[in-house]
Amino acid sequence: QPTNLTRIGLAGLAVMGQNLALNIAEKGFPISVYNRTTSKVDETVERAQKEGKLPVYGYHDPKSFVQSIQKPRVIIMLVKAGAPVDQTIKTLSAYLEKGDCIIDGGNEWYENTERREKAMSELGLLYLGMGVSGGEEGARHGPSLMPGGSFEAYKYIEDILLKVAAQVSDSGPCVTYIGQGGSGNFVKMIHNGIEYGDMQLIAEAYDVLKSVGKLSNEELQSVFSEWNKGELLSFLIEITADIFGIKDDKAEGYLVDKVLDKTGMKGTGKWTVQQAAELSIAAPTIEASLDARFLSGLKEERVEAAKLFKSRGLDSILNDQHQTVDKKKLVDDVRKALYAAKICSYAQGMNLIRAKSKEKGWELKLGELARIWKGGCIIRAIFLDRIKKAYDRSPNLANLLVDPEFAKEIVDRQSAWRRVVCLAINYGISTPGMAASLAYFDTYRRESVPANLVQAQRDYFGAHTYERIDMEGSFHTEWFKIA
Ligand code: NAP
Repeated sequence: QPTNLTRIGLAGLAVMGQNLALNIAEKGFPISVYNRTTSKVDETVERAQKEGKLPVYGYHDPKSFVQSIQKPRVIIMLVKAGAPVDQTIKTLSAYLEKGDCIIDGGNEWYENTERREKAMSELGLLYLGMGVSGGEEGARHGPSLMPGGSFEAYKYIEDILLKVAAQVSDSGPCVTYIGQGGSGNFVKMIHNGIEYGDMQLIAEAYDVLKSVGKLSNEELQSVFSEWNKGELLSFLIEITADIFGIKDDKAEGYLVDKVLDKTGMKGTGKWTVQQAAELSIAAPTIEASLDARFLSGLKEERVEAAKLFKSRGLDSILNDQHQTVDKKKLVDDVRKALYAAKICSYAQGMNLIRAKSKEKGWELKLGELARIWKGGCIIRAIFLDRIKKAYDRSPNLANLLVDPEFAKEIVDRQSAWRRVVCLAINYGISTPGMAASLAYFDTYRRESVPANLVQAQRDYFGAHTYERIDMEGSFHTEWFKIA
């Protein structure tokens, strides 16, 4: 046990908590750790010894855990979101004193954080909801951190967070004070929604290259490795290249071909889409990625449907529509389509954050968010630098699509993007993310959309009224049957 009190405490020693505790200790901050199931406490202390005699001190009961931390005490919680967080707060707060602070590092629903912050402040305690991204590896060696809530609490542990976060050479540590209330959790949630979009778009690129271009896993590995040297350079492209190179350890062939095509999820993508609807912000690419996960889950139904449509001759009809494709050109087109679609997806995510920020008065800085996502997190990418620059140039940019640089990049890539989507349609391969992004772009950039007809219909059957393009006011017409 330490001779002095420790600087900070961490409760919840599953994957994230254990690794973050070691990271904090390694950066020179003695840390106390606690977990409901005490074997994990011993396991964490043992690991800390093995990984360089790190100053991690374990406690089996909450009282001695809390009392081992210097005042004002700060405790990071990394337990399952929801009720476990409330239970852990209850356990710990019995021993906390005025001015102490709890930080929830989990993927928590932002309103839960706001409710808890309020309840804690009534007890004289401070509270932060801090998004932590980067999985196990990020937590251990440098995550992207999104703390929101009490600014006073943030300032008290800023020195720790600045050292623990991922460090990016040209833009500093991947942490910033996000804003009031549940803003840290909200931003983390949208980060995850954007992550869903990125993963779906990459999966579609893979599908087109594999199903249309007939690229082998070796070729896919080399294409993605090559892509990772350019504008698409990112963690997700990098790991995708690795995945194509990994052989099955249980049978012949490559492992990726043996993985069941059914995607799991934990809920942050769904929350993002629900928020998009609540805020009336179009987020079709992120929605498409969520829908794709839902449909992937219907494996048994898809197997039956495939049989049915094959028996009705659909496969041979589609086969007749196949064109000869130039592999090199296809690879180039898909790269461009992926990049352009990604711009649209980020535009949607950023607009969601802005809309919520306005509603809640959080005053979130979009460029700063792009900066702290440049390292540590799953969506880290060279591309985020361009987003940061776009918001630096114009903090009130209505949409990333109209930033002059992004606009130019889209114009340069749009023909390739359309070719890929058309090709996929003709082959009967769904590219919902790429197509949704393209529709988003084609709707947003057009002066006129067919909403005039929808308004006419609404007025026809429901007297909902409409506005006119040539005069002020609200109009209603008695529309009538022509024949
Ligand atoms: P987890 O599997 O979400 O949660 C396990 C931890 O929660 C254990 O410490 C467990 O204690 C504790 N716990 C569960 N129910 C409890 C209760 N009723 N009372 C007290 N403690 C309880 O762990 P995780 O994967 O490390 O994730 C922690 C948080 O970080 C989650 O909110 C997660 O969504 C978020 N997150 C995870 C990742 C990731 O890659 N895994 C990435 C970013 C964010 P026992 O050992 O006693 O069961």
